[in-house]
Amino acid sequence: MGEVRVSEAQAHRADLESLVAEAVPELEGAAPEQVLAWALSTFHRDRIALCTSLQDEGMVLLDMAWRTWPGVQVFTIDTGRLPASTLDLMEEVRGRYGIRLEVLYPDADEVSAMVTNHGINLFYESADLRLSCCDVRKVRPLDRRLASLDAWITGLRYDQNKARGSTAEVELDLAKGGIVKVNPLARWTHEQVLDYIRERDVPRNALYSKGYTSIGCDPCTRAIEPGEDLRAGRWWWEGGDKECGIHYEMKVNERGETVALSMRGKADG
Ligand code: SF4
Repeated sequence: MGEVRVSEAQAHRADLESLVAEAVPELEGAAPEQVLAWALSTFHRDRIALCTSLQDEGMVLLDMAWRTWPGVQVFTIDTGRLPASTLDLMEEVRGRYGIRLEVLYPDADEVSAMVTNHGINLFYESADLRLSCCDVRKVRPLDRRLASLDAWITGLRYDQNKARGSTAEVELDLAKGGIVKVNPLARWTHEQVLDYIRERDVPRNALYSKGYTSIGCDPCTRAIEPGEDLRAGRWWWEGGDKECGIHYEMKVNERGETVALSMRGKADG
């Protein structure tokens, strides 16, 4: 590994900002392995982590990061509503890579209050309640973990949907307290992800072989029909952007649709 440039103590946000300003042109269009190598040699090992929901992109990154640095911190979120195949994949990952896969959980009291007030399947009732469920089960556990980091690594790609169109390899994540967000696969296509998986025999969620193309919680994910968008199987009963609030601040518009707010636009304005 290269020299660590960010101290073990929590880095100052101004330092992170200038680090990103320097890295953006340097890493624009770089290979994912190069972006990962930069990230893993720039931040202290305890202050950077890979966040993955164990979908194809996250598995590719996990495989790449493990090859770069087997001790990389990796975490995932068990929302309490995941399909059994995702839980099985967690075990497969632990066996295959021998890593300590950190599993985050939502706060039990928050889940209890939400379910007591609105029922276990509140997400089908309105976009507001769906976003509340994603907030309690995914966003808050993530935010708690990110509060102890200077950088997180994600599997975001440019072409996943229009809300993700501005994804860069490295950016300042203003929605997460101004830490650095590293997106090594920003410019990869879905085909490149699949090619990597085939070449390296990377483990996959069993639901992919049943027509699923984007896999989240069991009640909010279905297989897609031929010709449908790759994320059409997420929250299919809703209009709007297919996001959960992990990467974008979400709101419900006047038509009752979920809309992802651009973090950059928010910062600019
Ligand atoms: S995907 Fe569905 S079940 Fe999972 S946190 Fe969001 S609304 Fe809740």
